[in-house]
Amino acid sequence: SDNRIAVLVPGKIHPRVLERLGKQFDIVSVERDGGPKVDAETAARIRGVAVAGGFNAGWIDAFPNLEVIANFGVGYDGIDVKHAASRGIVVTNTPDVLNDEVADTAIALLLNTLRQFPKAESWLREGRWVKEGAFPLSPFSMKGRRIGINGLGRIGLEIARRLEPFKVKIGYHTRSPRDSLPYDYYPTLKEMAQSVDTLISIVPKTPETHKVINAEILSALGPHGVFINVGRGWSVDDDALITALGNGTLGAAGLDVFYDEPNVPTGYLSLPNVSLLPHVASASVPTRNAMADLVADNVIEWFAKGQPLTPVPETPVKPRG
Ligand code: NDP
Repeated sequence: SDNRIAVLVPGKIHPRVLERLGKQFDIVSVERDGGPKVDAETAARIRGVAVAGGFNAGWIDAFPNLEVIANFGVGYDGIDVKHAASRGIVVTNTPDVLNDEVADTAIALLLNTLRQFPKAESWLREGRWVKEGAFPLSPFSMKGRRIGINGLGRIGLEIARRLEPFKVKIGYHTRSPRDSLPYDYYPTLKEMAQSVDTLISIVPKTPETHKVINAEILSALGPHGVFINVGRGWSVDDDALITALGNGTLGAAGLDVFYDEPNVPTGYLSLPNVSLLPHVASASVPTRNAMADLVADNVIEWFAKGQPLTPVPETPVKPRG
């Protein structure tokens, strides 16, 4: 009906977002390929956006009466928040509801990388246990590791807490140290890489985090060293990582995220010492449902109360109306 507020959904989104928002808003679904294709009358009716996977300045400017952009995901690097802020548009993300899932995945990926469990399962399934005997011993173990976490925010802290019972040494690097934590703080990534043998990256995609995991950092981790990435592929120099894994400068790596998803550099696919996941860190039914609810609730709260639940720090929240 025409007096309902219109909410734009470009491309695909979790069905629960559509189901929840459809109860009180007019959902306008559009393809994301080739930019915004909406007639002027509809464009003028759009006051909210729910989106998974990016909303740039061109999209923002196609909607003159836009008030809120609700991003599905805690990382909102696909949204031009600076541009949204300049237009007084609020951007929201989905923090906290995925911390446990992503931290669990980081631990699982670390163990898979160290102990080669995915390869061991393939060994069984392919009948090699029967034909060739026991699966080869894993070269690495969790025991006695010194682990450095690059980024100790909401998710990084949950990863650190999960590492405690493994009796490993735990340190972290962020731009500013966090108060009263029992972990060693390193003011630079390089100092941390020199002091640990295992690096877990969980930093956002920002201009400052571009390819910070480079040849120098990887060689500091050493031949016994392991690199795990559950943050963003943007933070890694893939050529350097593929070279380091190939020539033994680095022991092994586990990656859930890539520079240009879903494209994975072919160099990784032929390496035996890398464990690869297709960006599944938060991808369980319960956690994705919680993320979908938070996207819907941000839009609902904005139009009901003029105050979204989880705005990002870059965009202003001034009461509506
Ligand atoms: P937070 O904002 O809570 O934490 C970010 C952390 O990174 C902070 O500790 C921050 O500390 C640190 N950081 C930011 N910039 C830098 C920098 N230039 N150098 C060093 N440290 C930096 O975010 P979350 O923990 O909620 O999420 C982190 C990221 O993880 C998301 O932005 C997303 O990209 C990614 N992610 C990936 C998922 C997956 O499916 N694989 C799922 C969920 C999230 P300080 O500001 O002091 O530097």
